Amino acid sequence: MNILLTGGMGYIGSHTAILLSEAGHQVHIYDNLCNSNIDTLNRIKKITSKDIAFTNGDIRDTEKLFNTLVNEKIEIVIHLAGLKAVGESSQKPIEYYANNVQGSISLLQAMQSANIKTLVFSSSATVYGNPVYLPYDEDHPTAPTNPYGRNKLQIEEMLHDLAVSDKAWSIACLRYFNPVGAHESGLIGEDPNGIPNNLMPVIGQVVSGKLPLLNIFGDDYDTPDGTGKRDYIHVMDLAEGHLAALNWIKNNPRLHIFNIGSGKSYSVLEIIHCFEQVSSHSIPYQVVNRRPGDLPEYYASADKAKTVLGWEAKRGLSDICNDSWRWIKNPKII
Ligand code: NAD
Ligand code: UDP
Repeated sequence: MNILLTGGMGYIGSHTAILLSEAGHQVHIYDNLCNSNIDTLNRIKKITSKDIAFTNGDIRDTEKLFNTLVNEKIEIVIHLAGLKAVGESSQKPIEYYANNVQGSISLLQAMQSANIKTLVFSSSATVYGNPVYLPYDEDHPTAPTNPYGRNKLQIEEMLHDLAVSDKAWSIACLRYFNPVGAHESGLIGEDPNGIPNNLMPVIGQVVSGKLPLLNIFGDDYDTPDGTGKRDYIHVMDLAEGHLAALNWIKNNPRLHIFNIGSGKSYSVLEIIHCFEQVSSHSIPYQVVNRRPGDLPEYYASADKAKTVLGWEAKRGLSDICNDSWRWIKNPKII
């Protein structure tokens, strides 16, 4: 199939592009490179030995999107483009609403005009907010606690209204948990601009000597070792989740929501120890105050994705650390 990936040059999009291309799909990436690098395209081509089309464009440019959809004969869109830093979303909320919500409206308008009505959307576990119970299942109440999470929920609600208004739409909202890891080739991985906020990229920068140490945000949570626990999902498992979702959604109209997580959680200290083991490097750290807004623990019920899509995470923590390490020590020269 001809598939458009908005935001396909980014961390999750680039790994998904590889998997879709290797599965025989024609992949077209649409990205404005605001948080990615054109080098990634060469790396994707090198890994797949396939042609990957690319348009440098903003999702808010409805006309450019429309022309791309029509000219490339796109059949399905995977919508990953967006700004994703939770902390930054509180400092620059309007930028986030403009990029993420307005950008999604623009995409939906272009898709409607081009009569393309099959969509996979990158949502987030952030939509759930404080756990009423764990694991979060898809029926857990949604109460996001920051503008980024509210962007995601507003887009989901908009997609719901659209699918109710027109039965020709088939939409899968994938609520990702914590994507980590890298492609097993070591040629692509997460490479954030500036100082990273998320645990794995920070560990990567400490191991590679770019940062002197890791700040652990609190060791007094009600968890076995006191540090925060999350559901880390290997990015290639996540890519496989997109493939499963698009295979299923094309025959199943309306809107469907799926958690994409492993169903397990690991603490900060467990991640550090696993990384130390696979890299044979020690990771210096200090315990500092809790990060405002952090939850002690959350993880997915991934039962729906398993039952309905036939998808489940196959890779474990040591795969995550090994693949990340291979990416971190790669000299990053194509
Ligand atoms: P990323 O920043 O690496 O990739 C996003 C891509 O979108 C980038 O290449 C960026 O250049 C592009 N982009 C942003 N705004 C754009 C615009 N207006 N027009 C065109 N391109 C634009 O992020 P990622 O980690 O790959 O995340 C992909 C999606 O998954 C995002 O929507 C994000 O919110 C969502 N998500 C990510 C995580 C995570 O922890 N990484 C968790 C849950 C959900
Ligand atoms: N964390 C940490 N130090 C860091 C970054 C993160 O201790 O420099 C902790 C954080 O408190 C949380 C876990 O690592 O318990 C995962 O944080 P991340 O930002 O990666 O994901 P999120 O909290 O958004 O799920």
